[in-house]
Amino acid sequence: MYAAVMTVADKKTVPMFDLTRQWAGLHEEFLRRLNDFLPQQQLVLGEVTRDFEAQLAKKLGVRHVVAVSSGTDALLMALTALDVGRGDEVIVPAFTFFSTASVVSRLGAKPVFVDILPETFNINPDAIQHALSPRTKAIIAVHLFGHPAQMDKIVAIAESRKIAVIEDCAQALGAELYGQQVGSFGLMGCFSFYPTKNLGALGEGGAVCTNCDELARRLRRIRTHGSEEKYVHEELGGNFRLSALQSLALMVKLPHLEEWLQSRRRNAQLYLQRLERISELILPAEMQGATHSWNQFCIRTNRREYLRDFLKRNGVGTEVYYPRPVCLQPAFASLGYLPGDFPVTDRVCAEVLALPIFPELREDELTYVCDKIAEFFM
Ligand SMILES: *Cc1c(COP(=O)(O)O)cnc(C)c1O
Repeated sequence: MYAAVMTVADKKTVPMFDLTRQWAGLHEEFLRRLNDFLPQQQLVLGEVTRDFEAQLAKKLGVRHVVAVSSGTDALLMALTALDVGRGDEVIVPAFTFFSTASVVSRLGAKPVFVDILPETFNINPDAIQHALSPRTKAIIAVHLFGHPAQMDKIVAIAESRKIAVIEDCAQALGAELYGQQVGSFGLMGCFSFYPTKNLGALGEGGAVCTNCDELARRLRRIRTHGSEEKYVHEELGGNFRLSALQSLALMVKLPHLEEWLQSRRRNAQLYLQRLERISELILPAEMQGATHSWNQFCIRTNRREYLRDFLKRNGVGTEVYYPRPVCLQPAFASLGYLPGDFPVTDRVCAEVLALPIFPELREDELTYVCDKIAEFFM
């Protein structure tokens, strides 16, 4: 009898991610602001977007934020603002989300992939040195999972060769290196407000930040069909504008960002403490001088598929970011990369497993996840 009760009580479901918990605390404030917002019918960009841009710029400690339609568009626009095109090369990590590299190809330039460091999953600065060529126009440094890349080294390499650094901060809003917010080390920083990121809109959204007045102006122009003066188009640009409704949602959420980041950090610390004893696991690190934003908490094990399946059967949601090196995606087949080109990336792709770490994850849920992982390795 007792044992049966234990079994039932022991059975939990822990989602990988659950936005409904966050929304519960926001919906009143959002509806109140929506009531003031809707009668104005300023639906695209508008005052609320300017307010959001100013708030985010303040948070990041940068001169300009240009709010845009997505993180992917932010990257595409940043490269466009540098006139990246046919004949140019852009250095990108082999282990990242697809769009870090696809934007390079979409502009007719060539992504040159390099391997990562196993400790942080981030681009290896020494590998960048070997990938440089006279055609290299830019480096995209990704702060993957929220851990800052080695910006001091990367910026030094770029400066010595007079090439640009763009930061892909899609997963790293709030991360810092030596007390400085990511996004402000390179020429431009690109952010995503996709709902699963640290600051999520009610749909798609993104931003580019920069300290350069000229680039900010160019980015604003690119955002609206290359136009500054109405119906005069200096360049092609596109429609990369953010919907005002998304800015409104982001304005409601931004004041909570710090507390959510704190919760992610608390969750990460609990995981690190409780999984420390399991010698079969490689746990994510936070390097000296770095403040992780913990968008993802990715452990490594060479029994990844078995562990994932075991957790699934026990009600625990997990994800694999990312199962395949970007350079081996079918869309990049013509570039001719092969398995084995980037040994660290290959290994990490086979071993990573992301655990639930969203801010509203409860401690009993986290404990359950850790207990199940321990049980698997017992
Ligand atoms: C999410 C993400 C992007 C793309 O952002 P979207 O808003 O989804 O277009 C780019 N790079 C990385 C590393 C990401 O995680």
